[in-house]
Formats: sequence, structure tokens, C-alpha cells
Amino acid sequence: MKKVVKFGGSSLANAEQFEKVGEIIRSEESRRYVVPSAPGKRFSGDTKVTDMLYQCYAAACEGADFSEQLAAIKERYYEIIRGLGLTLSLEEEFQQIEADFKAQAGREYAASRGEFLNGKVMAAYLGYEFVDAASVIRFDKNKNLDAEKTDKLLGKRLAKCERAVIPGFYGAMEDGTVTTFSRGGSDVTGSLVAKAIRADVYENWTDVSGFLVTDPRIVENPVAMDTITYRELRELSYMGATVLHEDAIFPVRKEGIPINIRNTNRPEDKGTFIVESTCKKPRYVITGIAGKKGFCSINIEKSMMNSEIGFGRKILQVFEDQGISFEHVPSGIDTMTVFVHQDEFEDKEQQVIAGIHRAVQPDFVEMESDLALIAVVGRGMKSQRGTAGRIFSALAHANVNVKMIDQGSSELNIIIGVSNNEFETAVKAIYDIFVLTQI
Ligand code: ASP
Repeated sequence: MKKVVKFGGSSLANAEQFEKVGEIIRSEESRRYVVPSAPGKRFSGDTKVTDMLYQCYAAACEGADFSEQLAAIKERYYEIIRGLGLTLSLEEEFQQIEADFKAQAGREYAASRGEFLNGKVMAAYLGYEFVDAASVIRFDKNKNLDAEKTDKLLGKRLAKCERAVIPGFYGAMEDGTVTTFSRGGSDVTGSLVAKAIRADVYENWTDVSGFLVTDPRIVENPVAMDTITYRELRELSYMGATVLHEDAIFPVRKEGIPINIRNTNRPEDKGTFIVESTCKKPRYVITGIAGKKGFCSINIEKSMMNSEIGFGRKILQVFEDQGISFEHVPSGIDTMTVFVHQDEFEDKEQQVIAGIHRAVQPDFVEMESDLALIAVVGRGMKSQRGTAGRIFSALAHANVNVKMIDQGSSELNIIIGVSNNEFETAVKAIYDIFVLTQI
């Protein structure tokens, strides 16, 4: 059994957290490949090392004296090294970083040092081999991941190590220029490593016990899910549920490797498994509820619209011409409504309206702003009668006015549009009816 274990910044913020991580790794022989993030926040209001590096590098680029900022970063690592009782020295590394900052080696290079240094500390602490991500994660000239090359490089390099630490978040181009993924990108590194070594499981350790059924800022202490499929996860993360970097799904998904989200502070919790497919029934009919505020709807009415071939295409063309993507397009006999992101739409509003008039000569165009969309996602909905009924009666009881309903034919999710100011009430009502009432 081979496992790749990735630890997020909060799991590695100080020596105490490192010790928990050490215990987790040592408790299972199979946890052989470790992907660390940079040290995160030790307490609320603290600054992540990655952000300290961005700031320090910005000062270097302005030609300002950045020695104090760099010393503060160094202290973050030495605090961990001392706390763990290690004799590791990072003096050479910091001298190199200082020189590279002075030579303006690049913002991404600067940020990558957080993971690079933490990888060094982790390797020394565990007695594992250190594999620099710059030598095994390859980006092309356009700074996009070269997945094929990366898979080959990683596979070849790791075949030679029984146990290794591979820092997350960065890689390099062919010419050696260090490049990073977007923020939170250590998740992607973990996934690439898991694919390359054909891991049995990719464990992603963080500070929550898996995916919660809904946002804890809306519902107090929501329950965690046991299992979620990749498709369900896509729907939920698109609607704002964030635990894992979006791009972390693809490499392991292709190989059928499950991701297990775990909590470093509660290793006894089993966390959530993200899998390709499962016959395990979800604990509740729904798997999760997520949503976003800030949408706008444009309602276009024209009698006999239903018999006009090409009507929908012409309308959507207007949005395309303005570079606006649409979210949902529910339609009726004589109406078609287009949901868009308010911030993408606002500036181009008048051009769109004029374009619609020109394209289809509507009887009437009406707009509504400050709308929220809620996605109720669940593979279990397909085989269960009355799911939609329960959702809408719960919303009616909570006095929420439903403005739009859209159920994809995959029956994996139901999208509901409500006013921004009824968003939280709606999410709570749906959570209560499925999770608390549990009938
Ligand atoms: N340290 C990076 C960040 O703060 C990457 C990561 O943690 O995955 O975004």
C-alpha cells in the first residue's frame, strides 16, 4: 500500500503542528510520500509565510531594504526547527534567497521558497529524502502544467526513493524558471505525485474533518460527508464550496485514485472520501448545499417565441459577443431568462439590452439584480421521490420566495434562485429539512 499525504499550511504552522503531522505519518507505514505547504497562520490575524514572501519580494523589487522582512520569515522556520529539537541550518538557503531577491528572480520564485524551505525542514524531521519540485514538476513556456512530462519525471525520480518529501505549489519550466500554481496549489502537487506513483490513496490533511454538507458560516456545525463523487464535488466547488484546489481533481481522477480529506487536529475522524463512483448510499438524500450571491437575471419575453427557430442562439450570441458567460438559462413558452454574474454584466448592461433588441425584437426585457443561486447536489436524488417537493416546501415554510428552479437532466443537482437577502435563510431551511429532520 502506498499513500501520498499532503499537509496544508495550518497543519504545519508551528512545531506543535509539525509534531502532530509526524505522528500521523509514523502511524502508518504506507504514508511514504509527503507533500507539504508553507507554514500557514498560527492564530487568527497571523500572516502565512507565502504572503510574507510576496510582501518581502515586493519590497526587494522597489529597491527597499527587505532585511527585516526576510529575518521575520527566517524566524518562522527557526521557531519550528528549535521546537522540534532539530540541528538543521538554513543559512545557505537564506543567503541564496537574499541574493535572488536582490537580482529580482521573480515573484513566483519568491513565493515558492515557502514550500521549498518547509520541505527541507520536513525531510530533516522525518528522515525522508528531499526531492526539489523544480526538478520534477514541469511547466511549459506559457506557464501551464506539462502533465505528461511531469508524470514521467516524477515517476522516474520517485521510483528511486522509498520515502520522500516533495514540496508543494511550485515547479519549473524547461529552462529552470521557477513557476507556481495558483494559490492553494500544493493540493495539485499532491495529486500529481499520487498519479505518478500510482498511489492507493491521496490523503489531503487540513483543518476540517472533510467536506461539510454546507457552509459553517451559514449553518452552525454542519455534518461532514463520508463520500462524495468527483461529479458532485465539481458542482459544489463551482458554487463556492472550497476545501480543495479545483485542479487537484483531474490527475487522480484519471487513475481512479480516491482522495481522502482528513483533519490533522482530529486524526481519528475518517474524513471525506472523494471517489469516481460509488454504490454507497449517501447518509442523507442530498450530498451537499452550496451557493453564491451576486447574480443578475435578464428576462426576455416575446409572444410566439417557442416557434422561432434560433431564438435562443441569437440571445446567447449577444452575451458571447460581449464576453459574458451565462450561468443558467431557464425558459418558458414565451420567455427566456439568462442568469449572469452581476459584476461581469453591470458595465455592459446597455450594450446587451441593445443587442437583444436588435437580435430578436422582443416584446419586453426585464432585469433583476442581487440574486443568489443555491445548488442542492446529490447522487441520491435520482432514486428518491419527492426531493424537489421537500426543498420547496421547506423554502415556503421559511418564507423564501423562489425566483428560479433549474434541474439538470442528470438529476445530480437542483439549482434554485432566490434574493441575495434570503440566501442564508434558504440554505438553512434546506439543510434542516434533509439533515436535521432526516425523513
Ligand atoms: N502556500 C501556498 C498558498 O498559501 C500554496 C498552498 O498552501 O497550497 O497558497
